[in-house]
Amino acid sequence: MVASEVRALFAVASRPEIVSLAGGMPNVSALPMDEIGEIVRRVLAERGAMALQYGSAQGDPVLREQICDVMSLEGIKASADDVIVTVGSQQALDLVTRVFVDPGDVVLAEAPTYVTAINTFAAFQADIVHVPMDEDGVLPEALEERLDSLAAAGRRVKFFYTVPNFQNPAGVTMNARRRGQVLEICRRHNLLVLEDNPYGLLRYEGEPMRALRADAPDNVIYLGSFSKTLSPGFRIGWALAPSSVRAKLVLAAESAMLSHSSFNQMVVGQYLASHPWREQVKDFNEMYRERRDAMLGALEAMMPASSTWTRPEGGFFVWATLPEGLDAKAMLPRAVSQRVAYVPGTGFFATDDGHRNMRLSFCYPTPEQIREGVRRLVGVIEAEIKL
Ligand code: PMP
Repeated sequence: MVASEVRALFAVASRPEIVSLAGGMPNVSALPMDEIGEIVRRVLAERGAMALQYGSAQGDPVLREQICDVMSLEGIKASADDVIVTVGSQQALDLVTRVFVDPGDVVLAEAPTYVTAINTFAAFQADIVHVPMDEDGVLPEALEERLDSLAAAGRRVKFFYTVPNFQNPAGVTMNARRRGQVLEICRRHNLLVLEDNPYGLLRYEGEPMRALRADAPDNVIYLGSFSKTLSPGFRIGWALAPSSVRAKLVLAAESAMLSHSSFNQMVVGQYLASHPWREQVKDFNEMYRERRDAMLGALEAMMPASSTWTRPEGGFFVWATLPEGLDAKAMLPRAVSQRVAYVPGTGFFATDDGHRNMRLSFCYPTPEQIREGVRRLVGVIEAEIKL
């Protein structure tokens, strides 16, 4: 296990004088705190003895039904029996890896990919093999080519990990055609897909995409989370898996943590039942759209020629590529001295790639702070070009 560069950055980036384009923290101050307080009070007053008791490792059955309703927004038809509540989708990543991966097994993942997924796969000694992407998601030909060459080398591939919507860190979304191709390739190679979708409902333009799981219930393990649509503080996510896999995940969860917080599950369940949560997601989306537009506008106006960046339709992240010869990791201390922080691209690869890249988050700072952050960042990049 190695320390994540992103986590290490949080201490620096939280200093008040710094505009942080680094962390992916949702803006929870937009939540109706008084109403959530009232829900907490009601859960304790009406069902306190259950809320403060042990629960099950699979999770509250009422919440699991509600999770099925949430997933139906992306075309998924599921039974609550096949849902397991997890401590954020992060725990689901850990449980799936624990159940499937033996040391030396291959896990396929997009290039770049979510840093803490890399750390989880590495903790179980998986060999991470990247598959390149472009602005429409993973390249199906490259996926096929990797699978063929791994099969020829006699390697055991356990699953393909993908974040199909507004990917962390690249901000790109896998288009509908690619989704079909990826599912077809994985079905032909008898390969499981691990679909990690914490951002899917945070869409600022265009139509919602059908989840991969909606079209391949037997081949996909789907991971979801309330961290971005409600709050990461409750630590409630979930996995939807074919029932044979789900049974193993529940056993793994029992040995990892015995039972969930009954209290947190009831509060989230009550919030979903009594609060217009879809309206809340719409409010979040308006706020985040404004921030995304502030970032894209500032990059367009200020970034030097020969730098490029992605244009996310949702989520929290823009992935920028610096002009040839620049190194985002080496540049970071100089950026921090100019009071702006970002995450260097290198952390999002299991290989030695991403030196010219940086992840810029627009979820937490205000539009004015974003514009000021980009202004400072561009000053640092221009000074670097002159070096
Ligand atoms: N997957 C991805 C792609 C993420 O970006 C995150 C949060 N940064 C997670 C999983 C974990 O989220 P949580 O455990 O809060 O649900």
